[in-house]
This record gives sequence, C-alpha cells and structure tokens, in this order.
Amino acid sequence: MAKMYYNNDANLELLKDKKVAVIGFGSQGHAHALNLKESGVDVVVGLYKESKSWSKAQEQGLEVLEVAEAAKASDIVMILVPDEHQKKVYAEHIVKNLEEGNALVFAHGFNIHFSQIVPPEYVDVFMVAPKGPGHLVRRVYSEGKGVPALLAVYQDYTGNAKELALAYAKGIGATRAGVLETTFKEETETDLFGEQCVLCGGATELIKAGFDTLVEAGYQPEIAYFECLHEMKLIVDLLYEGGFEKMRYSISDTAEYGDYMIGRRMITEETRKEMKKVLEEIQTGQFAKDWLSENTMNRPVFNAVKRRELEHPIVEVGKNLRSMMEWIEKK
Ligand code: NDP
Ligand code: MG
Ligand code: MG
Repeated sequence: MAKMYYNNDANLELLKDKKVAVIGFGSQGHAHALNLKESGVDVVVGLYKESKSWSKAQEQGLEVLEVAEAAKASDIVMILVPDEHQKKVYAEHIVKNLEEGNALVFAHGFNIHFSQIVPPEYVDVFMVAPKGPGHLVRRVYSEGKGVPALLAVYQDYTGNAKELALAYAKGIGATRAGVLETTFKEETETDLFGEQCVLCGGATELIKAGFDTLVEAGYQPEIAYFECLHEMKLIVDLLYEGGFEKMRYSISDTAEYGDYMIGRRMITEETRKEMKKVLEEIQTGQFAKDWLSENTMNRPVFNAVKRRELEHPIVEVGKNLRSMMEWIEKK
C-alpha cells in the first residue's frame, strides 16, 4: 500500500511567516488562492495587467499583483497558468525573482519533467497536484471536505521541501482527503496516459463509436445519445462509489453477462498493444515534443480536429436533449 498523508501529518504553522504567490486565477488558481487564504495563509495572486481574472480575484478579497511583483513579494510561488504558457511566464517574470531558499511549486509535472523549466539549484521545487478539477477543489473545501492530491519533491534545497509541500496541501484542504507521494515523472506520465487512453480520448471515442454504430443502423439518434453518452455518467457514478463490484451489483444480470462476454471484444489485445505504444510515446517525450511544437505553430492540428469534432451529429443531438433537462447545470 502506498503511504498516505492526512491532516495530522501536516503542519500549517510552516506557512505562517511565509507569503504564497498563486500565479494565475483560473480553475486551479482561484481554488488554491481562496482555500489558502481561508486557512490563514498570506496569499497574493499574480496575473498580467489585462487579465480578465484580475477584478474577479480582487472582488473575492484577494491581493493581486503583476506576476513579477507577486513572485518577488513571496517565498513560495505556485505556478497555475496553463501548462503551455508556463515556460514563458517563468522565464520572463518569475526566475529573476526567486531568492535563495524560496519554493517553486507546480500542480502538474509537465514543464519540469520535460525540461521546459529548469529551476536554479538554490530553491525547493515540489508539486501539489489536486486529483480533481479546480472548481471542486474550491467547493469541497468550503464544505469542510477536501479533494485528494499528489505530492512530489523534485529538488530539496532547504531540507524542508516535503514538510512545506504537506503544509501547502493542508492549506488547500487536500490532507482532509489524503495526499499520496509520487515523483514528477510518475505524475506526468500517468496523468498524460490516463487522459489520452482512458478518461478523455478513450471515453469519447468509445461513446462516438457506439453512437455512430446505432445511428448508421437506423436507430434514432436521441436513443443512441441516451444509451451511449447520458447513461455513461450513471454507470461511472456507481464505479466511483463502489468500484466494478457495486456497478455490477446494481445492473441487471443480463447487463452483467453482456459486460463479461463483450467487453473484451471491444478492448482487444490490439487495443492493449496500442496503449503500450501510447505510453511509450509519452515516456520518450515524443508526445510532449509534438504538443509543444503544435503550440509554436498556432495549433494547426488541434484547431482542425476540434472543428471537425464539433461537426459530429452527437453535438447537435446532445445540445437539444440537454436543454430539456433542467437539472443539468448550465454554465
Ligand atoms: P486555467 O486555464 O483554468 O487558468 C489559467 C489562469 O492563468 C487564468 O487565470 C489566466 O488568466 C492566467 N494566465 C494565462 N496566461 C497568463 C500569463 N501569461 N500570466 C499570468 N497569468 C496568466 O488553468 P488550470 O487551472 O486548468 O491549470 C493550471 C495548472 O493546474 C496546470 O499546470 C494544470 O495542468 C494544473 N491542473 C489543472 C487541473 C484542472 O482542474 N484544470 C487539475 C490538476 C492540475 P485569464 O483569466 O486572463 O485567461
Ligand atoms: Mg492532465
Ligand atoms: Mg440498458
């Protein structure tokens, strides 16, 4: 069993005389800044002057400065701008404001692991990565609970990096739910693998393939949508609550028999072989290189595929059906 850390393993006092700069005020940024503040930590938000987040952060009672000033004023700098912008923000505004013994913190290992950011040797470098979207990190904290997180130390200059990381994790509420120690390598590679093969890429292609098969066979697209997409959540909720056992307990025996017989015909040996290949491309840095070069070229492939995906019939069908389901939260 992996070692887990909880509230009693972390000491918020370690943050008492320190100032934390949260760079960015998006999904994770707003959650970290507000949770830390409510945990009694001295927080400043770092943004660029024209950012639409600037007034939002101020309205919620937070001090806001430009990135360089925020980094300069603080001892701990948490970088929560999008991964593909971090290298530039770091080089232009942060590195020259890091003093000896400061800490540089991440919520995802990509830029460190793939050498986009190479920090000076005189700072601590660690990661506190909540395993959930930022809006949940905030909401769940307000309810007195927490979203679990991963913790990793990349560089321990002060000898205190892990304790500091645990204190930070406590400040955002993560030690209420459990914090697991990992490495930047493990977090980065498993995160990319999960989103590509299972959670995002795997799930959407599976749904689309099911939807297309039914529609091409002449069934109503609305039925196909409910069956292949809408019901996915209901099944995933059961998986989340009680694993495969609870899901299989809850479905009919017919569904359970179909699950056992057919699942392996969908995810075949060939699919597993392809997964290994994808993992290899992540491990060798091939994926990182492709994604970084996409970004230097204004994302030609990303934009083209995104456009094509939006033209898929499941988009229109889904829009209409969801508009009738008032209980589905609209953004
Ligand atoms: P978002 O895209 O939600 O937020 C980005 C924020 O950074 C915005 O406030 C944006 O301002 C600001 N920003 C953008 N460019 C700059 C810049 N040049 N200088 C200063 N501020 C800038 O990011 P996420 O919260 O999704 O991701 C942040 C980090 O957290 C990433 O490392 C990600 O991998 C990690 N992470 C994210 C999770 C999530 O739930 N989304 C889950 C776990 C980890 P503006 O409002 O003006 O655009
Ligand atoms: Mg990810
Ligand atoms: Mg059914």
